[in-house]
Amino acid sequence: MHRPTPSGGPSLPVAFANTVRCDACRSDDALATPRRYRAWARRVGGELPERIPADDLAALRRLRSAVTALLRSAIERSAPPRSALDRLRAAGRATVPRPVLAWSGAGWVVREAVPDVPSRRRVGEMLQEATTSLLTGPHREQLRACEGKGCAHFLLARTRGQRWCSATGCGNRARVARHYERAKRRRPDR
Ligand SMILES: [Zn+2]
Ligand SMILES: [Zn+2]
Repeated sequence: MHRPTPSGGPSLPVAFANTVRCDACRSDDALATPRRYRAWARRVGGELPERIPADDLAALRRLRSAVTALLRSAIERSAPPRSALDRLRAAGRATVPRPVLAWSGAGWVVREAVPDVPSRRRVGEMLQEATTSLLTGPHREQLRACEGKGCAHFLLARTRGQRWCSATGCGNRARVARHYERAKRRRPDR
């Protein structure tokens, strides 16, 4: 399995894109149900809201397609699909705290009120911020698509040679396949 990454920073878009179902890694869609989303959000940690109503998960899955398309175009160094960029921007529209007049008991004060926005909007804001910092910052060079056969996951490579989303999953399968190929070559069919 692929290890979740700390939330917030540039690793969040990778962790978010990696919620997709992957047959190679035998992992389910982590955005399929509120329960699965919650387990994922807890693993990732940080400030991700833990509760997303089932009806809002479809919007997050669409956002995931957009983020995935952006990551892919960054890896391929090609222009991103316009629709993906638009979707990320729309999801991340800032919900700015507003000053609100209040009475402290001794005098007037201004309090900041954060508008009551749905949790999925907060996820959208976090992703808009994190994707911006990933695609325009130094971590972009570490962004890769896993080379595991049939794997749908991405990774932020910590070393130059890192090619798989997980050493125990895709990395191990590739090693086993290489070993098998070598053995076959040494021992041709009779
Ligand atoms: Zn995978
Ligand atoms: Zn993989």
